[in-house]
Amino acid sequence: MLFRGTLISQLKYKCAWYGKKLIIIDPKNTSRICHECKQKNHEFNSLSQSEWLAARKWACPNCHAHLDGDVNAAKNILAKGLETLA
Ligand SMILES: [Zn+2]
Repeated sequence: MLFRGTLISQLKYKCAWYGKKLIIIDPKNTSRICHECKQKNHEFNSLSQSEWLAARKWACPNCHAHLDGDVNAAKNILAKGLETLA
């Protein structure tokens, strides 16, 4: 398993090589927040982390958007990264 520091070092190297900027964000709640309405899914509160991470598809209890867990998290991570550029 790759350690976080090693992964970040490799990403920094690759970004420098290709003239890109590496943006590191806090991933907290990126899997639990609906990217459509930005509300945290409180239905996950009663589940363990492995249980709510295993939810591949879920419907937002606030705006009823149907979400793919990975795509939703990726959109939240992208939005957090773009916020750092603003
Ligand atoms: Zn929502």
